[in-house]
Amino acid sequence: MPATETHCPYCSLQCGMRLARRGRETVVETWEEFPVNEGAMCRKGWTSAALLRDRERLTTPLVRDPETGSFRAASWDEALDLVAASLHGHRVQHGPDAVAVFGGGGLTNEKAYTLGKFARAVLGTSMIDYNGRWCMSSAASAGTRAFGVDRGLPFPLADVEQADVVVLVGSNLAETMPPAARHLDRLRERGGRVVVVDPRRTATAERADVFVQPVPGTDLALAQGILHAVIAGGWVDEEYVEERTTGFDAVRRSVTTWWPERTERVTGVPAEQVRDLARLLGEAQRVVVLTARGAEQHAQGSDTVLAWIDVALALGQCGRPYSGYGCLTGQGNGQGGREHGQKADQLPGYRSIEDPAAREHVAGVWGVSPESLPGKGKSAYELLDSLGTDGGPKAMLVFGSNIVVSAPNAHHVTERLDSLDLLVVADVVMSETAARADVVLPVTQWAEETGTMTNLEGRVILRRKALDPPDGVRSDLDVMAGLAERLGSPVHLETDPERVFDELGRASAGGPADYAGISYERVTAEHGVFWPCPTRDHAGTPRMFLDRFATPDGRARFHAVTHRGPAEQPSGEYPLHLTTGRVLAQYQSGAQTRRIRDLEDTGPFVEMHPLVASRVGVADGERVRLTTRRGAMTAPARVSESIRADTVFVPFHWVGANQLTNDALDPASRMPEFKACAAAVTRG
Ligand code: SF4
Repeated sequence: MPATETHCPYCSLQCGMRLARRGRETVVETWEEFPVNEGAMCRKGWTSAALLRDRERLTTPLVRDPETGSFRAASWDEALDLVAASLHGHRVQHGPDAVAVFGGGGLTNEKAYTLGKFARAVLGTSMIDYNGRWCMSSAASAGTRAFGVDRGLPFPLADVEQADVVVLVGSNLAETMPPAARHLDRLRERGGRVVVVDPRRTATAERADVFVQPVPGTDLALAQGILHAVIAGGWVDEEYVEERTTGFDAVRRSVTTWWPERTERVTGVPAEQVRDLARLLGEAQRVVVLTARGAEQHAQGSDTVLAWIDVALALGQCGRPYSGYGCLTGQGNGQGGREHGQKADQLPGYRSIEDPAAREHVAGVWGVSPESLPGKGKSAYELLDSLGTDGGPKAMLVFGSNIVVSAPNAHHVTERLDSLDLLVVADVVMSETAARADVVLPVTQWAEETGTMTNLEGRVILRRKALDPPDGVRSDLDVMAGLAERLGSPVHLETDPERVFDELGRASAGGPADYAGISYERVTAEHGVFWPCPTRDHAGTPRMFLDRFATPDGRARFHAVTHRGPAEQPSGEYPLHLTTGRVLAQYQSGAQTRRIRDLEDTGPFVEMHPLVASRVGVADGERVRLTTRRGAMTAPARVSESIRADTVFVPFHWVGANQLTNDALDPASRMPEFKACAAAVTRG
């Protein structure tokens, strides 16, 4: 086969690659012309073709036999008939909200859009949300409040190279998306400086000029301390603040008491380093502040992001070339996945489901009445927490998510899944969640289907089909259309991705994330198109906010926020902070990457400082038991001076870590507090 230009199946960088046939093998080759990665890839991308020949690939629908409790093979007709009959029965008996739908940040835009339409217009349920709620929602909420719209990076990633200082807060970019780290290297070659804020001295911190190591859950206080010192140093861009923002006076007052010594007491960051940071940022012409999950996955995640946006605004950096604030999105379609309707509160085009004009517009595109569309549903964790309870959903369909591994307080969530009358999982392999389902539907993956993704820059790109799927496998789009037909749906669901994308464009027209001017043809010819792009002759918008922000008055909003710290603080019984994160060779819940032989699969480990190891009485590699108020796991100790002595770290790609994490939610974004809870370590 000729090589197909497509994109990696994993993270939000969406590296361009070519897939070629060499004999019987499909191999990954470079695509240097694609500008985001210029041919560079990490080892996850290089080995991704192995997914296409996985021996455990699902190729037939599976139905759980009520007699034996085991799966048996079924035809597609039998499986879809069974699911449709059960969904219909639950809707008739308990109402439409008895059926829930759960999506994922890795689904293409076409699938995310169709999932939202399927839930609202076919099932009539408000019970839809997705695992992206656990990824970028705090930054999304903060970006919307501060700038009027949420696009993770409001500028191309390569702009970072032209900044004088880049501050990475809670991002281990060198391990999560290694090709992006070359922008930091080029910035440093130009004489720029990189600041990394993280409780662990990560591979990214090793490449930094300044490493700041706060206590987990204190990034907000650190931002306030820095802003205090920026104000004290006279580095506020008063003219910019006056012309382009509102709300600074309240913020100025709110940081008055965050003098560097108080900041040190709360964050553990030396007062002198706080002052030095303020000077570094204050004296730079162009500053980029980037947050990621380390700062965002907290019960105060959205306020934390707002505090860092306050710093960037006070310095006059947002909406100017080669500077500003951005969020480094995680999942492959974490950006597009949060724009087109699989969120509980959202309609396509990043519109609010509570906005009457948005409801009328989208209902018009779908050919239904606005009154027939349900209202806002529950956020991801709240939805899962309500499964099988009085008044909660009794049946759920899951597309593109491995909830059993990725949900916080996962023991509890797994119990809730098990309490359902019907759990249907559409997946490529038998994930931990699929293994608990009543019906498993084998679906196409990545290179076996065409669809668009929106990368971390807001650039819409096209993942092209490179090979046919195995016999017996159907697309998620076919699954939804097949169920819609059986349920006597009042709306038609397209199954051709390009036709879905054109409909999505019409549904998004006039919304904040306007795709109306984007087509497959343009995406191909232009190496992606940045939204908003309202018409076919519009160039797209690589850099946002240069003239005005997307708020009604065009000004960015400061927000005076208050540090509270993690919901759970260390105590006598649980004396340590537990934080979670990623490793280079694995991606998200590991459902894909753990199956690839050429990717190192270490299994979970507990990283701890030598002082903790010595207190516990273990050496590197010996097993320890890690306990929180929600559960316990055992794993080998990894002893390292790179982590704070009051903190332990566990990667979340395997079952275990999220059985320990806290389900305390951010009040604005409903993000759970994955990144900080209280824990105890003993010999395992
Ligand atoms: S995982 Fe991310 S950084 Fe690695 S090759 Fe894929 S898209 Fe690129």
